[in-house]
Amino acid sequence: MAEFVDGWFFGHTLGEGAYGEVKLVINKTTGEAVAMKMIDLQKHPDAKQNMKKEATVHRMLSNPNIIRYYGQRSEATMEYIFLEYASGGELFDRIEPDIGMPSWEAQRYFKQLISAVEYLHGHGVAHRDLKPENLLLDDKDNLKVSDFGLATVYRLQGRERLLEKRCGTLPYVAPEVLVHPYRAEPADVWSCGIILVALLAGELPWDEANPQCPEYAAWIEAKYMSLTPWKKLDTIPLGLIRNVLIHAPVSRFKITDIKTHRWYLKNLCKDNSEDCIDGGRLKCLRYDEEAITRLGLSQPEFPDTENQVFQINLDERPGFSFSQPAALEDLFLSTQPVQNTQTSQNTFQRLVKRMTRFFVKTDCEETVRTLVKTLKEQNYTCRVNDVGIVTVSTVDRRKMPLVFKAIMVEMDGQILVDFRLSKGCGLEFKRRFIRIKERLDSVIFKGSVTWPIAVATKTMP
Ligand code: ATP
Ligand code: MG
Repeated sequence: MAEFVDGWFFGHTLGEGAYGEVKLVINKTTGEAVAMKMIDLQKHPDAKQNMKKEATVHRMLSNPNIIRYYGQRSEATMEYIFLEYASGGELFDRIEPDIGMPSWEAQRYFKQLISAVEYLHGHGVAHRDLKPENLLLDDKDNLKVSDFGLATVYRLQGRERLLEKRCGTLPYVAPEVLVHPYRAEPADVWSCGIILVALLAGELPWDEANPQCPEYAAWIEAKYMSLTPWKKLDTIPLGLIRNVLIHAPVSRFKITDIKTHRWYLKNLCKDNSEDCIDGGRLKCLRYDEEAITRLGLSQPEFPDTENQVFQINLDERPGFSFSQPAALEDLFLSTQPVQNTQTSQNTFQRLVKRMTRFFVKTDCEETVRTLVKTLKEQNYTCRVNDVGIVTVSTVDRRKMPLVFKAIMVEMDGQILVDFRLSKGCGLEFKRRFIRIKERLDSVIFKGSVTWPIAVATKTMP
């Protein structure tokens, strides 16, 4: 196993961003885990300044719904930022395409998001890239805002400045950002509104908030009631969203207005019967094939799967803790030699809750054969490598590349088929997964399997 610095080992890759990777690093003695965002300056010489700014803004912040910043490390050609590890993965992965999630759950996440954004704005910081891929979850399913790569200070000593930079992820970007300059707070609030739509309906309303875009034009002309996603939403949450997604930033709901809205104040809970009346869930089970649905680029997960994968349940390791790790300073010192920065052959991987996997009754070879046959029947082009990883390359309904993999993992004598997105839209990936899974029904194991399982597993040799 590769050692990063004395006593700290590499775990698996947690995600990939625009410039670099985020890896898990684990303390050998205590089992404590830290997320490490790293950028290779040889590949991205322009990224150094951005990374410095990200660290400068992030280090000022301390809030239960914001990923904690631990420290930073600079090497000649590498920059690292060390962060609290969010073991629950991205909020994005909890959104079921075209369905969303139960409204009590959406409300819980939304409240945590609003609380984090209120804190940020209270400290004069704009995030500017709020989206479900940048909202991470901890082991207790608490939302943690992350990725301060585009964040900026817009208020200092009580004086606010207008922002100029057109940035963010287009479907989440407020209309005024496209025509800049713009005020920071309403722009972040807008993104929260789009996130709420994604949580309640499992789709995004438009490609961009530009009146040229037909779905957005219909929205501002209030001709949307028969259209998706709006027709899936009940009147109370829709009422909130209508006030948040107001074109003119001056008339848009502020955080204080959101916090006093009826839907926000409603006591939705898991077994609350109100959920049936109020939420998006029961109303939107019908899959609308014609819907113009879209979600922006998602981050690929676990790209290191070409290697052998070993699995352990970190929670069961003695002394494992999500509080601030003790031997952190060792990570920040630049004097220690960096050992092999490549992913090791044996790497820790922790199962996060994901819906794109199932157990099968067949062995590895037969599973791969059946899967390839099914994919071909559905007109996919796929390739199988020598460890049985099946890679599918296709395009989505917007003609954007979509690449995903199916990995066979042996767990306690049973085969788990794990689908992972490598490139493209996450919701489109999940839609494809659902269709492929339907066709594999005869080989899918329907009994109960307790997982995540704390055993060492590896991919098919
Ligand atoms: P982009 O600019 O493409 O949004 P980025 O380079 O700024 O990405 P991040 O968004 O910070 O990178 O991280 C990329 C992904 O890595 C996240 O979407 C998430 O899946 C994973 N990740 C980042 N930080 C953590 C963390 N602290 N704990 C767990 N996973 C993380
Ligand atoms: Mg990001």
